[in-house]
Amino acid sequence: MLDNLRVVLVRTKYPENIGMAARACANMGCSDLVLVDPLNLDLDKALPLATAHARHILESVRVTHGLAAALADAHVVFGTTARTGGWRKSLVPPVEAGRMAAAELVKGKRVALVFGSEDKGLENEEIQMCGQLVTIPTAREMSSLNLAQAVLVLLYECFRQSQPAGHAAHDQVAERHATHAEQEALMANIQETLSAIDFLKPQNPDYWLLPVRRFFAKLDLRRSEFNMLMGICRQVRWIAGKAGKNTPDKNRQGES
Ligand code: SAH
Repeated sequence: MLDNLRVVLVRTKYPENIGMAARACANMGCSDLVLVDPLNLDLDKALPLATAHARHILESVRVTHGLAAALADAHVVFGTTARTGGWRKSLVPPVEAGRMAAAELVKGKRVALVFGSEDKGLENEEIQMCGQLVTIPTAREMSSLNLAQAVLVLLYECFRQSQPAGHAAHDQVAERHATHAEQEALMANIQETLSAIDFLKPQNPDYWLLPVRRFFAKLDLRRSEFNMLMGICRQVRWIAGKAGKNTPDKNRQGES
């Protein structure tokens, strides 16, 4: 999905950072890593941090002399900087860069993210080659992130915002919302339960339930939470029934 996204590391000093950046690339589905004049390309030091999963990225890494060669076939270039002011003005935050990059990638454009060296960052001439400059907001006292961590933040935004609408990555957060019908079933269940424990007054329980409805309307209920609340109601009615409260038998359970 991030096939047309390239990470460009300029004059990297520490091979460990190259390894960690390769790992970040693998995590976010980007496999195009380019090194511009690396100061130390010791793969034995980089590989352990890349882990086996990003080994292929390190093994196919391209090395160029000068930033221009790394960007020649890119359509859109984002530079990154911890420093602001001077040459580094009109900065955008990662969320905005991710949105712009995703919009370009979906059109089939090639997008490059450029990162500077650990000590000096990008030079002014290199900054000029970048159409957009991105800075990751930080605490005022410490604006400079570790290089590979900065790579991860940027890639994450590109990755996240390149997901097709409604498709959560890895299905980790893909659980669906409770439907209207389920919410109504829950309300009926809650009404019955709250009546069974005398929380709702028998005269006009619909009216007394209104604040509870309002409260639930504010929640973004997921399917599993709906199931959980239905289960809690069933159990409360069962206990209330045992305590001699007037509750229908049909929902009894809990004989464990
Ligand atoms: N002293 C350097 C810091 C370099 S840190 C400077 O002032 O730029 C190495 C690289 O990590 C930076 O060149 C940049 O590409 C990236 N980086 C570090 N912190 C960042 C931040 N807060 N926002 C954006 N990129 C950052």
